[in-house]
Amino acid sequence: MVDLARRGFFRGRPRPWAEIRPPWALPESAFVDSCTRCNDCVSACPSGIIQAGDGGYPTLDFSRGECTFCGDCLTACKPAALARATPEAPAWTYRAQLDAARCLPSQGIECRVCGEHCDARAIRFIPRLGGSPLPTLDPDTCTGCGACIAPCPAQALKIGA
Ligand code: SF4
Ligand code: SF4
Ligand code: SF4
Repeated sequence: MVDLARRGFFRGRPRPWAEIRPPWALPESAFVDSCTRCNDCVSACPSGIIQAGDGGYPTLDFSRGECTFCGDCLTACKPAALARATPEAPAWTYRAQLDAARCLPSQGIECRVCGEHCDARAIRFIPRLGGSPLPTLDPDTCTGCGACIAPCPAQALKIGA
């Protein structure tokens, strides 16, 4: 079967899927060129959130857990498709995104589950007259760890750029 991703078909074009690579991944086209799909990062992740996605390239599944930024995937990646230019280089620019329409408090149902799982305290609940407090996300504080994703009973959160 022709491997369109490996042959660079999607380079510079909108992808038909939104995949999130492991932390410290090279920019997408360089990542696809460097990654051998060895799956070493998949087996290295103690959180079990790295899965073989489309084309066999690793992608993150936050329904399985969160990224602790332990760096085990980075260490395991011998082709350096995951690479940190400097020790301070950020893992990524991903952040949590809220679909307010799905969020339970917007439907009058009390819920603070996401805030209880956010160690970074990036989720705050704003009191409002006559309704349950609504969550707000601080993108400057959010690390994109994904700890809030799986616990949300309404699937109102996702990780995105
Ligand atoms: S940094 Fe650690 S927890 Fe995050 S994806 Fe890599 S191995 Fe998994
Ligand atoms: S856990 Fe989900 S439904 Fe509950 S407040 Fe957070 S985003 Fe809304
Ligand atoms: S992704 Fe992590 S840091 Fe960001 S809001 Fe969710 S739990 Fe908090």
